[in-house]
Parts: sequence; C-alpha cells; structure tokens
Amino acid sequence: MLVELIDKYYQDKRDERNQEHFYVTDVGKCPRAVYFSMKHYPREKTDPRALRIFDRGDITHQRLMSTLFGIPEIRVVASEIDIPSKALFHGRADAIISFNNKLYIVEFKSSSEFKFRKLEGPENAHRKQLQLYMHYFKIPQGVFIYENKNTQDLKEFEERYDPDLCKRVISDFEILKKYIEDEIIPPKPKDLEPWQCDYCEFRKVCQKIEEENK
Ligand code: SF4
Repeated sequence: MLVELIDKYYQDKRDERNQEHFYVTDVGKCPRAVYFSMKHYPREKTDPRALRIFDRGDITHQRLMSTLFGIPEIRVVASEIDIPSKALFHGRADAIISFNNKLYIVEFKSSSEFKFRKLEGPENAHRKQLQLYMHYFKIPQGVFIYENKNTQDLKEFEERYDPDLCKRVISDFEILKKYIEDEIIPPKPKDLEPWQCDYCEFRKVCQKIEEENK
C-alpha cells in the first residue's frame, strides 16, 4: 500500500527534472547520455530503490556537514555553495572551510562497503568534480571525506589544484556544447565501462540509434 506510493513519489520527483545546463556531476557521465538529457530524450524509469539510495547520500552529507560546524579548529566559510554564474557548469560544492589559515573545498562522498575497502584515492569522476570547484572558486586545495555506508568508517584524501586536468575537462564540455548546439548526437566514447550502459537511462534510445547507423 504505502510502498507503491513512496516509489511513485520518488519516480515523479525524478521525471520532473529537465536538464538545461551542464552540472559538475556530469563530468563522470557518458557525454552522449548528457546530450540525450539536455535534449529531453525519453528516459527509462529509474529503479525507485536507486533513487532512495541517492537520498540517503544527501542525508550523509548533511550529517557530516553539521559535524564540521561543531569542530572549533575549523571555520566553515560556506556550505552548499553554488559555483559563480556564467561558468560553463552549474554545481554546488559541499563546503568551503578554513583550517590552519588555509581555505579548502570539502566534498563528502558515501561509498558501498565493497568500494570503500578498495579505495586508495578519490574516484576519477569525483576528482574531476573537485578540481572544477577548485578552479571556479580559485581555491587551490581541497579534501574528500568518504564514508562507508555500512560502517560509517571514514577515509580522507587531499587534492591540489591541477590546471591541466581542468583545461581538459572544460575543453571536452565545450566540444559537447557544440554537438548540442548543432543537434549532432556525439559518438559513443571508446573508454566507457560496460556498467555505464547497463545502468543508463537512455540505453534503449541509444541502441536504436546505433542500429539505425549500421
Ligand atoms: S547507453 Fe551507453 S553509450 Fe549510450 S548514452 Fe548510455 S552510457 Fe552512453
């Protein structure tokens, strides 16, 4: 009775979302999927369970954020702060803190037990996101806090600004912007992990286009 209504709530919330801009979180996605999203191609229904998992990640962020506010050695300069307008991307950094007279961008991430155990550095897509925040806020250092969803264990990774990486990411998205303006579907990237297509909301439409182009 209630489970169906809860699932519908999450599904409706998801369906309302029509993407109009690039988001910092798009840097880990397939560019073709970003194209489909911005052109409002029909999405396959996302499993409501996956949507509830995203929600739980948001709650983890809020909990870790409120912890930072309570630590006297840290000054929280801003939380949930939008990157400056007119940037190529929209996005919101989790926090900017001052610690030992230095500013840091802080990103919280929650991780499955399996991933967390193997984690020896930030995930590639997360690293690009933090680099873009450092770029747009002009803060040359950042830190990740990863939390294990099952055990609440934490791991921390510090990052220095990498201008070359930011240049490459921004240039890739400028190319994608041109595809969007010219209404040309970008090619499938060669380095996609198979799971990205398995979980893609645009899998059907993408396969259909591939078959038509054979
Ligand atoms: S199915 Fe794969 S190639 Fe196609 S848009 Fe999705 S992730 Fe990209």
